[in-house]
Amino acid sequence: MSPAPADPAVRAFRHCGGCGRPGPRAEGTAAVCGACGWCFFTNVAAAAAVLLELPGDPPRLLLVRRSREPAAGRLGIPGGFVDAGEIAEAAARRELREELRLRLPPTPLRFLCTASNAYPYRGVVYRTLDTVFTAPLAAVPRWFDAAEIGALVPTDPFAVGDDELAFPATRAALAAWRAARRPASSTGPRTAGPKS
Ligand SMILES: [Zn+2]
Repeated sequence: MSPAPADPAVRAFRHCGGCGRPGPRAEGTAAVCGACGWCFFTNVAAAAAVLLELPGDPPRLLLVRRSREPAAGRLGIPGGFVDAGEIAEAAARRELREELRLRLPPTPLRFLCTASNAYPYRGVVYRTLDTVFTAPLAAVPRWFDAAEIGALVPTDPFAVGDDELAFPATRAALAAWRAARRPASSTGPRTAGPKS
């Protein structure tokens, strides 16, 4: 087996976190100090998001225009990082409460897909695994956290361009949503069949 390529996040370390000597080396997804043996794995971070489906045929999806880097000005899916000890469903619900003051009903969130992502933030590229759910939403929320969100954007999932979307994971989630919506026999991109 060939060694895994070095994780860019490993290069964020200029000194050992154990003994403080300069230059821990990158070994795959770990920063390793040759002097004291300190080893830090930059494990993939978990994130969770919800594609909220507004009434319509096809439903519009409630995306958020990001007001901060990374991907400021582009459209993302409401959600965020999973806290330690938290499950993805709870993280998704918490993020919706924090970002939109939205409390979803206790009915289970519908799983859509997972997608891998790279999230550059203040000098470190975090690699993430995003779990994306769907849930129906009756109306656009009146409030959003203006520190992170510039606008709430009801979006036609069949008309939005990939270049408007914030991250590779955003594009993957929209593609998964469209694939789940489209009947297997359909050939036209706008042919929306009954939701499965
Ligand atoms: Zn060390």
